[in-house]
Amino acid sequence: MYLKEDYSVALEQDVAVHVENLEKSFGSLKVLQGISTQIRKGEVVAVIGPSGSGKSTFLRCINLLEVPTAGKIYINGTDITSRHTDIIKIRQNVGMVFQHFNLFPHMTVLDNVTYAPIKVKHVPKDTAREAGMELLEKVGLAEKAKVYPSKLSGGQKQRVAIARALAMKPEVMLFDEPTSALDPEMVKEVLEVMKDLARTKITMAIVTHEMGFAREVADRILFLDGGRLAEDASPQQFFTHPQCDRAKQFLEKIL
Ligand code: ADP
Ligand code: MG
Repeated sequence: MYLKEDYSVALEQDVAVHVENLEKSFGSLKVLQGISTQIRKGEVVAVIGPSGSGKSTFLRCINLLEVPTAGKIYINGTDITSRHTDIIKIRQNVGMVFQHFNLFPHMTVLDNVTYAPIKVKHVPKDTAREAGMELLEKVGLAEKAKVYPSKLSGGQKQRVAIARALAMKPEVMLFDEPTSALDPEMVKEVLEVMKDLARTKITMAIVTHEMGFAREVADRILFLDGGRLAEDASPQQFFTHPQCDRAKQFLEKIL
């Protein structure tokens, strides 16, 4: 008996995101219909599926931009769906990058990156700026620190958005189609930054239509269809032997 318990404790420690029977409805529209999965610490998961299948809603539930209708979500063992959870604190731990970068237009690039650490985490300004510059270097934009977002290309804006999310030192990073709004020539620079990030062993969940990237970088593919997790497989298995018909059809259409 105690052996079994030991086993579950060991597993629990390795889990960054634990989702159990997650449901989300908007009025009578059931968007997520009972999703259960785990994302291990350091794992990179690609979330794939047809438009309207619930991918964005799934990610948004993980950092409580949407409140689940039913089910449980644990981040590093903490039940974020509990009524007693401090939502602000959870969001600090779970960074999110959107399709449309949502940078603050009236702030310089560096101020965009340091704003939340200073305001929310009360990091001293000098420390935040130093860390911010390091992050801008990491995404290849140190020389743009004093520039306003309107002077940047889409790819550069998205790289700033990634640096900004990282500035909070999140334990989990969520990306919702980070390259979908970009001109084709800028997709690569953003994917490269994400690839570097994946190597640092931060836990990542990425909604993407970039199948080459998913195949190369993801440890696991989650295929959503109609608000259900239709397939949960390694990239190798998903792309060569998809199990369900919907995944087969989906891949035939886009590959
Ligand atoms: P995906 O990201 O896979 O395209 P979404 O999660 O954005 O899917 O949307 C899934 C379904 O939920 C769609 O039918 C969409 O219209 C609906 N939906 C998403 N957000 C809302 C909302 N805030 N209010 C009502 N319906 C929504
Ligand atoms: Mg979406």
